[in-house]
Amino acid sequence: MTGIKDNLQKIKSSLPKHVTLVAVSKTKPVSDLQEAYDAGQRVFGENKIQEMVAKYDALPKDIQWHMIGHLQSNKVKYMAHFVDLIHGVDSFKTLKEIDKQAKKHGRVINCLLQARIAKEETKFGLPFEEIEEILASDKLKELKNIKIVGLMGMATFTDNQEQLQDEFSSLSNFFSKNQKNYPDLQTLSMGMSGDYQLAIENGSNMVRIGSSIFGVRNYIA
Ligand SMILES: *Cc1c(COP(=O)(O)O)cnc(C)c1O
Repeated sequence: MTGIKDNLQKIKSSLPKHVTLVAVSKTKPVSDLQEAYDAGQRVFGENKIQEMVAKYDALPKDIQWHMIGHLQSNKVKYMAHFVDLIHGVDSFKTLKEIDKQAKKHGRVINCLLQARIAKEETKFGLPFEEIEEILASDKLKELKNIKIVGLMGMATFTDNQEQLQDEFSSLSNFFSKNQKNYPDLQTLSMGMSGDYQLAIENGSNMVRIGSSIFGVRNYIA
């Protein structure tokens, strides 16, 4: 009794229409993903490239695969032929590598720049100023095989609603402000199992939900 289907239906029915649900399936077996697929889910998020490739090979080809983890540039090549959206881009160097690999496959790969919103030191991501620098840079225009379609953020792992509210609203405000100059910015990826309602209240239109769908993970990912 896994309850994946029930969990999915419950979450889906609670999401506003404009919010995309990324089912975060990292560490979970292919059979769990198949169950979610059979229940209608088509967007899956993984945080390790090799694991995502193995699941891509094993599952139906109409799944949209999102890479949500921290990226190692040297592994981008393994997913460049199929990845649908890369959430965690946090350097120009990585953008360049994604562009290079996408070009080999004649594709344009959609990317989100990861913003640093958590106050804790350990989180990845770019400060807002650096995101603006990248968006404004001439060298970005040379990268024809990537498209920056939005921003992603991870809040601090905390129950403190006020702090979460602060972190989400700061990214949401920054996103709205930049949308005026960069109309390609359409996706704001923020919110996980513990905090997605608050993220949506603060303007998120893409949530990454793992444990509330698939149950707790058995090992650290
Ligand atoms: C694991 C992970 C999630 C999902 O976390 P849950 O708390 O299980 O919903 C979302 N985003 C990223 C970047 C993750 O690594």
